[in-house]
Amino acid sequence: MAGRWAAPLLVVAVAKIATADAAPGTAAVAGTLPAGFVDLADVAPKIAVDMRYASADNFVGRPVRGYRADRCLLTNEAARALAAVQRDVASFGLGLKVYDCYRPQRAVDDFVAWARAPGPATNPRHHPVVALFRRGYIAERSGHSRGSTVDLTLIPAAPLRPPPAPEDCRSLYGQNSPDSSLNMGTTFDCFDERSHATSDSVSAEASRNRLLLKLAMEKHGFVPYAQEWWHFTLANEPFPKTAFDFEIVDRKP
Ligand SMILES: [Zn+2]
Repeated sequence: MAGRWAAPLLVVAVAKIATADAAPGTAAVAGTLPAGFVDLADVAPKIAVDMRYASADNFVGRPVRGYRADRCLLTNEAARALAAVQRDVASFGLGLKVYDCYRPQRAVDDFVAWARAPGPATNPRHHPVVALFRRGYIAERSGHSRGSTVDLTLIPAAPLRPPPAPEDCRSLYGQNSPDSSLNMGTTFDCFDERSHATSDSVSAEASRNRLLLKLAMEKHGFVPYAQEWWHFTLANEPFPKTAFDFEIVDRKP
């Protein structure tokens, strides 16, 4: 979920770029993507797509602003790198599943408004503890809006029978997660220290799965995020200072 820009000067610079550039700030018209962006399904069709913020299956409990279609949009560079990762993990009898890709700035704003409202209380399915700003899980800017950041996990080539959804996102047992992905020790968007990539509070099997995902992603130029095992950013991203805000909509008919 996270990915912050710490320097205030950088944020100001981004705001100027977003104003000056025609692409950021405009909605995608009838499924037309801004230059430099692709649909991951066109580049790596074997990667499973489960965009959680386009559904109610997320920590907010409803679709998030700007996500009007279950599509993983990324920069060309990020999509090609991810396709290479998918080819590599296929040799282990595994595949990738993405939970979030490009994220419109308006969705980031939606998260911030939600977190600031008095509504969110602890919810063991997603955030067993609160203080989501201070703990770095919600921020006013996200690397996802630059189009080269992805949240993802590993899935077995042949689906395993999933266990029932746990009451607590930190308590996963067995080989796989309730969504049939490999057991990573927590579910996606579990805002807790156990989601830290190198947490020693998860099983040895979950640690191995995390390590495999990390090594596979790093091999193709992605940088991991220490607080979330699922979050990676392409180091050589093409739009390092631009927060895009076009909506994710269905393809042209
Ligand atoms: Zn993320």
